[in-house]
Amino acid sequence: MLRTLVLGRSLWKSSDFSVSVKQMWGTPRSHPLRPERRCSQGPCVQRNQTDTGHPLWKGPVCVPGGTRQSPINIRCRDSVYDPRLKPLMVSYAAESCLYVWNTGYFFQVEFDDSTEGSGISGGPLENHYRLKQLHLHWGAVDTWGSEHTVDDRAYPAELHLVHWDAARYRSYKEAVLGESGLAVIGVFLQLGAHHEPLQKLVEVLPEVKHKGAQVAMGPFQPSCLLPACRDYWTYPGSLTTPPLTESVTWIILKEPVQVARNQLASFRTLLFSAPGEEEKAMVNNYRPLQALMNRKVRSSFRPMEEGMRF
Ligand SMILES: [Zn+2]
Repeated sequence: MLRTLVLGRSLWKSSDFSVSVKQMWGTPRSHPLRPERRCSQGPCVQRNQTDTGHPLWKGPVCVPGGTRQSPINIRCRDSVYDPRLKPLMVSYAAESCLYVWNTGYFFQVEFDDSTEGSGISGGPLENHYRLKQLHLHWGAVDTWGSEHTVDDRAYPAELHLVHWDAARYRSYKEAVLGESGLAVIGVFLQLGAHHEPLQKLVEVLPEVKHKGAQVAMGPFQPSCLLPACRDYWTYPGSLTTPPLTESVTWIILKEPVQVARNQLASFRTLLFSAPGEEEKAMVNNYRPLQALMNRKVRSSFRPMEEGMRF
């Protein structure tokens, strides 16, 4: 089954790519610009204390020489509406879903990327990008967990759909290191109604509790996880997990999707740890905010249509 969706308008020029960063975890704290994470919803001092999280995300987290790192705080007033933006087309095949596994950072759903069966095009992208995987980031509590923030507001969780440019690269691994090799759609999750399509993922989580665990999935349509409104922000950024390469065109959807509290809580039953290791709950698996530096966030919608009513 193929479903095609229009995600808005965008035009992307990849002229401001900077040199890819190298592996950085464990490097000294040499970066002078590390914004503090603030939000309007919760005690962000607590949010910045990731004692219960994975060591990967313990700050300060920086990349020497990095100029387009992610995630960032999106300031609505500073984002620029770009009327040249083309419609972004999303076309996913449920049959391309392969399996779910615990990466040790989060749970991840893998898709068959050997053909153009599932992918996105248009919008800020010059080529068709194939869907490789999707995963989520979440907090220890309901008041934070998203990687990106909007006007300093954090959401409880954030979904990432990761795509790569098969027109210019031979594999996902090559695209990770290449200029504009990846395109990631970000979707915010907020507490509200039960999300039925998400429940299919929630129900397999007990089988991937430990790091490295894997379970096969039947057909799964990832576009069911997208919100109805296709407005988005786009900016040039990086992966938020190693190798943190600056190869990502981010497409952050403005409208969050609703999930039930117990669905969000099920994420926290997973473990960072492998069998036999000391059990460590998988929570706060988001990277700290990074400096915007010399970047502009563009929007596919007019500022007066923002409707940022939180
Ligand atoms: Zn992610």
